[in-house]
Amino acid sequence: MGVPLNQAIKVGTYVLKQHLTGRKRYPLVLMLEPLFRCNLACSGCGKIDYPAPILNQRLSVADALEAVDECGAPVVAIAGGEPLLHREMPEIVEKILARGKFIYLCTNALLLEKKIDQYTPHKNFCWDIHLDGDRDMHDRAVSQEGVYERAVAAIKLAKAKGFRVSINCTLFDGTDPARVAGFLDTVNEIGVDGVMTSPGYAYERAPDQEHFLNRQRTKELFRAIFRYGKERKAQGKTWKFNQSPLFLDFLAGNQTYKCTPWGNPTRNVFGWQRPCYLLGEGYAKTYKELMDTTDWDKYGVGNYEKCADCMVHSGFEATAVVDSVKRPWKLAKLAIQGIRTEGPMAKDIPLDGQRPAEYVFSRHVEQKMAEIHAKPQAAGAAE
Ligand code: SF4
Repeated sequence: MGVPLNQAIKVGTYVLKQHLTGRKRYPLVLMLEPLFRCNLACSGCGKIDYPAPILNQRLSVADALEAVDECGAPVVAIAGGEPLLHREMPEIVEKILARGKFIYLCTNALLLEKKIDQYTPHKNFCWDIHLDGDRDMHDRAVSQEGVYERAVAAIKLAKAKGFRVSINCTLFDGTDPARVAGFLDTVNEIGVDGVMTSPGYAYERAPDQEHFLNRQRTKELFRAIFRYGKERKAQGKTWKFNQSPLFLDFLAGNQTYKCTPWGNPTRNVFGWQRPCYLLGEGYAKTYKELMDTTDWDKYGVGNYEKCADCMVHSGFEATAVVDSVKRPWKLAKLAIQGIRTEGPMAKDIPLDGQRPAEYVFSRHVEQKMAEIHAKPQAAGAAE
């Protein structure tokens, strides 16, 4: 298992406590996006096409800590944009760790060698390196040659310095499962602590709209990958995933899950994103406002056209974690039998009642631009 025992126990206890106190909606992972600016321009990214004045915005240390305190999630994933471009990132990390949280700092690793000595290894801190497969797959995904080699060198450096390192691997249509299996072998041999994998979400603003997976193809792809996983296991090799086994079982088409969009609430330079990490359909000023005023029933597979193909971990991992805590026997069965890769798949949620997509993206961009022009001094700490 790629998740350390202390984290599994702390998160499990937290979920149990929420359940026992009858709390219906609670966060598991805060998705903190302190900036949208990046030093890459990946074809599947839906975050970097904002106008320059918005890309120049940063969440301050105080904003970041307020978000952590307001929502109370036990885990914080720091994403972006590229977080290592934020000059106050070491202070943000140090102060979040001091609050007893677990941190995954997501990075493309291009700046890791230069900045690594600003950070100290900690049992609750993990570098989460973006690698979408082997050299060709990754360099194609990030639209730049040589990035894979630099990321692998950074992973080795981080491991040598005593850090925990995981991989964040997004898969797209046309992916060859045999190559993914080879990639998982490689990162295992390098000694990474776990891999987080997921199909890409079809961001409406991503430059490449042709390579997103639909639900059926996602399930077929993961079944094919897990078949290779079984072969490797028979040879005594085990891939380490940073995800709950039931989420992986869901990816293989064996679980019917609704998403838990409030499980990974997202705070970025616009505010608290409604309804989830993947869809930006409005923003709330506070976490409480997000939770109290979002019409959650309007979203999710079967409810909304933009959700139809979503199987992303930020939406469904929380569902799987809660299911694991409420029904531990499902986990035990999975541990004994492994992920089923043959036979019929679990029934999927029907889409015939879903409401059509709304395209509201430009509204909050216009609003933010007007705010920036009105108060240029509020632009924050740009590096
Ligand atoms: S299915 Fe859920 S997590 Fe996925 S985009 Fe829709 S609301 Fe967000």
